[in-house]
Amino acid sequence: MLGAADESSVRVAVRIRPQLAKEKIEGCHICTSVTPGEPQVFLGKDKAFTFDYVFDIDSQQEQIYTQCIEKLIEGCFEGYNATVFAYGQTGAGKTYTMGTGFDVNIMEEEQGIISRAVRHLFKSIDEKKTSAIKNGLPPPEFKVNAQFLELYNEEVLDLFDTTRDIDAKNKKSNIRIHEDSTGGIYTVGVTTRTVNTEPEMMQCLKLGALSRTTASTQMNVQSSRSHAIFTIHVCQTRVCPQTDAENATDNKLISESSPMNEFETLTAKFHFVDLAGSERLKRTGATGERAKEGISINCGLLALGNVISALGDKSKRATHVPYRDSKLTRLLQDSLGGNSQTIMIACVSPSDRDFMETLNTLKYANRARNIKNKVMVNQDRASQQINALRSEITRLQMELMEYKTGKRIIDEEGVESINDMFHENAMLQTENNNLRVRIKAMQETVDALRARITQLVSEQANQVLARAGEGNEEISNMIHSYIKEIEDLRAKLLESEAVNENLRKNLTRATARSPYFSASSAFSPTILSSDKETIEIIDLAKKDLEKLKRKEKKKKKRLQKLEESGREERSVAGKDDNADTDQ
Ligand code: ADP
Ligand code: MG
Repeated sequence: MLGAADESSVRVAVRIRPQLAKEKIEGCHICTSVTPGEPQVFLGKDKAFTFDYVFDIDSQQEQIYTQCIEKLIEGCFEGYNATVFAYGQTGAGKTYTMGTGFDVNIMEEEQGIISRAVRHLFKSIDEKKTSAIKNGLPPPEFKVNAQFLELYNEEVLDLFDTTRDIDAKNKKSNIRIHEDSTGGIYTVGVTTRTVNTEPEMMQCLKLGALSRTTASTQMNVQSSRSHAIFTIHVCQTRVCPQTDAENATDNKLISESSPMNEFETLTAKFHFVDLAGSERLKRTGATGERAKEGISINCGLLALGNVISALGDKSKRATHVPYRDSKLTRLLQDSLGGNSQTIMIACVSPSDRDFMETLNTLKYANRARNIKNKVMVNQDRASQQINALRSEITRLQMELMEYKTGKRIIDEEGVESINDMFHENAMLQTENNNLRVRIKAMQETVDALRARITQLVSEQANQVLARAGEGNEEISNMIHSYIKEIEDLRAKLLESEAVNENLRKNLTRATARSPYFSASSAFSPTILSSDKETIEIIDLAKKDLEKLKRKEKKKKKRLQKLEESGREERSVAGKDDNADTDQ
């Protein structure tokens, strides 16, 4: 089985039927009440029970179907088993709720669970086929068949078997109950009716129900003394639904190479169980043969109670579950604590006369709530394999990618390992980043230092000039800018020299390796040009300095000549100076 097992408890609903005319006439009082808005029922004044659902006297058949059963039919289409069983004393409304009576004159709104489920099933089948055709997909194929069994006196009777000898009720039937390797229960020797439409199914059921009542009348025994188990098997072959996750992954590869649709087969079985009356034997006042029947009925329900108790009681979890104690529990084995979504509908009477039986039913139902079932999809082997292969492909694609990127390697001995280079690469990348940060910081330091050197050297030069009596603000500014330029060039020169040195080393190595490689002075022009540049600048600087000195001298002379001092003249001189400097 594929897919995670989904643990779900047996859900329990309680249905209180309305008081019957007879009860009203006999003056019975109502002793049950439901807390509004809560799934809680009070029996008398102080006995409260909480269930998954509680349906009061006025509840309708449809309400029970939509709230409890509808989801389970939907689940059948996804491959989940389901079981509904009705429990309660005789006359509490089990047959009415389940709809196993198949009263021909029944009104639409009074139809029980089975009729509604069958209609829903066939309607959904039609819808699924139509929607597939609309989407251009092959329509899903469905095979639906049904079985109808009755358990009476620990004997399995086949209600679909028309050749059945009603009088031979005490003879052993050929029906066998078996368990498959996955714990699923199946029967051998039971008539299986394949049905294609809703009316066909209903016709089958009516015949089955009729056969049951006829037998009961002939034997003068009420049908409430036996358990009726109606089972629908649904087998569906459909195109595998693609999940979004699958579309997103590299499955494109698969779909591209094979445009054919993949099919999966899902199976599900749905049990509808109308149990025999749960009342105690002494209340029925049965004797003789009737008493024996009564004991047998109680045997089935007793075993069911023990199974429920063993499954529901946490302290008894590990102990043996007595499924084999009765045919009923054996048939329902995979629905109780097995692979099925199970719901128990406990039917009770509201009348005070039935107080004790109602109390027993509620206690019994309460225990069933603790049973945990493991629900799984019944998928065929091919679909399981396809899914397994699909995840295998995804895994292998990932692995291949790792080989391609060199993360994984195989050495000469065929031993597989993660490449050291992969780790090393990661480490080197981190180191590289760190170094980049450091270089940036160092570059900033170098710039700052160079500025400082320029400052100091220009100060020094100014001092020298001042001592020689030639100091002047303009000159000092000029000196500063020249020195700055010289420093910048010097830095560039040092850098180029270092690069040059490295290249020269590489070249020597390369020449040593290859005799054809001629060591021409391919690298010198850079350094030469920068040397030349420096010399030129220094020459220029010298000339500029000379010019300025001459100008200074002229200025001094002019100053001596023209005794007047005035802004006009100075500014004129200033303008001239500027014009000169600009040249
Ligand atoms: P059981 O199968 O538990 O012995 P039945 O289903 O035969 O009980 O119900 C006993 C009587 O009560 C029947 O006449 C049935 O029509 C009536 N009855 C049971 N439940 C309801 C209900 N919810 N509404 C109306 N009548 C009901
Ligand atoms: Mg009944």
